[in-house]
Amino acid sequence: MTAARTLIVGAGVTGLATAAALSEEKDDDFIVLEADSEVGGWCKTVKKDGFVWDYSGHFFHFKHPEIEQWLRARMPGRVRVIEKKSFIAYGGRKIDFPFQKNIHQLPRQDFIDCLHDLYFARSSDVQREAAPEGNFEEMLYARLGRSICEKFLVPYNEKLYACSLATLDKDAMGRFFPHADLTDIVRNMKRPDNASYNATFTYPEGGAIEYVRALERAVAPGKVSLVEPLVSIDLSSKTARTSKREIRFDRLVSSAPFNRLAAMASLDHDPSTWAWNKVLVFNLGFDAKGDRGVHWVYYPSRETSFYRVGWYDNIFDTDRMSLYVEIGFPSDARIDVAAMRDRVLADLRREGVVTGQRLVAEHSVVLDPAYVHVTKRSIAEHRRLAAALGERGVYSLGRYGGWTYCAIEDNIVEARALVTSLG
Ligand SMILES: Cc1cc2nc3c(=O)[nH]c(=O)nc-3n(C[C@H](O)[C@H](O)[C@H](O)COP(=O)(O)OP(=O)(O)OC[C@H]3O[C@@H](n4cnc5c(N)ncnc54)[C@H](O)[C@@H]3O)c2cc1C
Repeated sequence: MTAARTLIVGAGVTGLATAAALSEEKDDDFIVLEADSEVGGWCKTVKKDGFVWDYSGHFFHFKHPEIEQWLRARMPGRVRVIEKKSFIAYGGRKIDFPFQKNIHQLPRQDFIDCLHDLYFARSSDVQREAAPEGNFEEMLYARLGRSICEKFLVPYNEKLYACSLATLDKDAMGRFFPHADLTDIVRNMKRPDNASYNATFTYPEGGAIEYVRALERAVAPGKVSLVEPLVSIDLSSKTARTSKREIRFDRLVSSAPFNRLAAMASLDHDPSTWAWNKVLVFNLGFDAKGDRGVHWVYYPSRETSFYRVGWYDNIFDTDRMSLYVEIGFPSDARIDVAAMRDRVLADLRREGVVTGQRLVAEHSVVLDPAYVHVTKRSIAEHRRLAAALGERGVYSLGRYGGWTYCAIEDNIVEARALVTSLG
């Protein structure tokens, strides 16, 4: 039987950041198991016919300069720093993001509706009792009023999450939800400050995978075992069974989706606790340029299949339109990719994204899971089960291991903190 002090499950950002942190501590007694034939998880990049596409639009906003510097020191290629231009498609025009801070850009009657409802939702002068904020939907209505919710926040987020927003915890999006109050919104009408939420982003010339490669470069060759999924864990004997062998471990760090880890470790729990969406992504390359001055657009209209479209060519400053298109589905949906492709191309034409350009290259992928549904129940169960696993030396990290909403930088911070705490 093989033995390793630390067994790492998954060679995405979280697993490789854990391996890199151990390597920096001069601890090389670890194995990384990866089910797929390549590293990267959802941070993979596809290169085709001169186009560079990620699995899905991935852009980076580092809050810890030392993490960004550490990564950049291990990246040979150029990293672009881009001033973000993102919009919302609304009634045939483009509104600056975030919607709630730019209601003055709406048609007059929509603006009046939004301002009126915002005032009566938030004004302490007129509000006798605070409206309930028991879930994500209630939080949106209580803080921003009916019209902002119904014109953008609810349809957009329902398209993305593919569920009722009333099922989600009020903090389901954590810091990624652009909060704004009446004062911010009114101030923004004369002094625009849309910049406060991710004003710039970085993007490597070689795609998001370059950040993964930087982590991989800090790990000794041969430490990652590809096409070797973890299959089950015996917590009492601290033994993992993979598709190829049995491995005895002292501690196991998993970035696999938490529902699957709980099943692999035979934890006594209710699997219906876990809900998530999946996202179908089309990457589309065209023979000629499209819109300029835009990086991505949000589409709240329920008639339009996608919730977001991004323009890689405006990031790379190239002359052929290169798009990613994202569509949310419930986790149990059966997706007819060919039918969706036809619908997406028709919707892109109707929305004026594709005018005369000819499609010359394409790629598609289904991210499953993509956005986990953070609910009161999932938070409580994750806490309970993670504590039970921790007592056996098993730690579940990352976006899916933590059953949370986060970015790659959070994955690196979390992996480093765990390695430090384990000693
Ligand atoms: C649509 C979308 C857009 C995003 N945009 C951004 C963005 O703009 N900026 C940003 O910073 N972040 C973004 N993210 C988040 C980012 O993708 C994640 O934070 C990051 O990829 C999570 O890495 P991870 O290693 O935790 O998980 P994953 O990427 O899921 O990696 C887990 C790895 O574990 C492997 N695995 C699973 N089960 C097993 C098993 N049983 N045995 C062995 N291996 C296994 C998988 O194959 C995978 O390689 C986005 C995510 C999505 C879905």
